[in-house]
Amino acid sequence: MRKLASIQKIKNLEPIEGADAIEKATVLGWHLVVKKNEFQIGDLCVYCEIDSLMPNKPEFEFLKVRGMRIRTIRLRGQVSQGICFPLSILDASVKVEEDVDVTEVLGITKYEPPIPACLAGIMKGKFPSFIPKTDETRVQILQNVLDRYKGTKCYITEKLDGSSATYFVKDNIFGVCSRNMELEEDNANSFWKVARENDLENKMKLLNINIALQGELVGEGIQNNKCKIRGHKVFFFTAFDIDNFRYYNFEELENILQKLELPMVPVINRDYILENDIEAIIKLATIKSTMDAQAWAEGIVIRPYDDKVDAELSNTFSNGRITFKAINPEFLLKHGE
Ligand code: ATP
Ligand code: MN
Repeated sequence: MRKLASIQKIKNLEPIEGADAIEKATVLGWHLVVKKNEFQIGDLCVYCEIDSLMPNKPEFEFLKVRGMRIRTIRLRGQVSQGICFPLSILDASVKVEEDVDVTEVLGITKYEPPIPACLAGIMKGKFPSFIPKTDETRVQILQNVLDRYKGTKCYITEKLDGSSATYFVKDNIFGVCSRNMELEEDNANSFWKVARENDLENKMKLLNINIALQGELVGEGIQNNKCKIRGHKVFFFTAFDIDNFRYYNFEELENILQKLELPMVPVINRDYILENDIEAIIKLATIKSTMDAQAWAEGIVIRPYDDKVDAELSNTFSNGRITFKAINPEFLLKHGE
């Protein structure tokens, strides 16, 4: 689970040109605007990430105009993501220590966009336990991972702004899942519609293996269809070997998709040497979409060329699979996120 609010250290404070009442703070890999002199470098604070939905309490009253949601904003030219509060907003019972998760004690929940009608299906069952769910951690909290894996050859894909789709064949049975559940076949449901349009069941069965393909369903009615795609399409980003509970690596993924004539998410860079510089990675993510030159890309996803699972990280994120996202701040600003 994402730590929306946690106790963090103010790593740095810098002036903002032309502003005397505010300054730029660095917390984890995030930059945000704070009131001048409210914090000193090294202070602990309560840091709330974007997407935090704050409870209706007097101390958060000022967020009412923004629907109680913490969003990316720009102040005096400075992009600001998240909010720092003094530790005094915490109850005396909370253990004050760096990294402590205070999301629940503060009553903060995560903002989730509404589900469009074309995606709301009839539940057939829980998401299958033999396939990992899709997820990507934000690079801003992964400095340690970057330090550990810098120099690794990676590939970068565009992060498409749609809805996660999982298609699988197990013991010759075909299944369709949204991000969190398996869906009953239904013509009105876009996950199934796209499966039939792409002849996925027959194609995947031809492989004669137990396999899952995971991708992003994009198009009309989904996430405001920012790239103006006609109809619905799916672009794949993961192939998973069910029998060996193993991700296929990039080359294998490409081969499988080529063989089945299915599209991959747009590959932006196939030879990226990982840097341990969050700032530089956010710059790489600040691009227009390959789907629509007018629209900002939501961001990028970076993965090692040879898939890596890190046992030490297995309970921190993505089951320890080294894969993460960098979201384009311009995209967030533009869409009020
Ligand atoms: P958060 O964890 O930041 O609160 P979230 O869990 O809703 O948000 P998303 O922002 O949707 O996560 O990011 C993860 C999702 O991105 C994946 O589940 C997948 O559906 C989607 N995705 C889109 N494009 C790609 C891509 N190129 N590679 C991998 N995943 C992608
Ligand atoms: Mn997530």
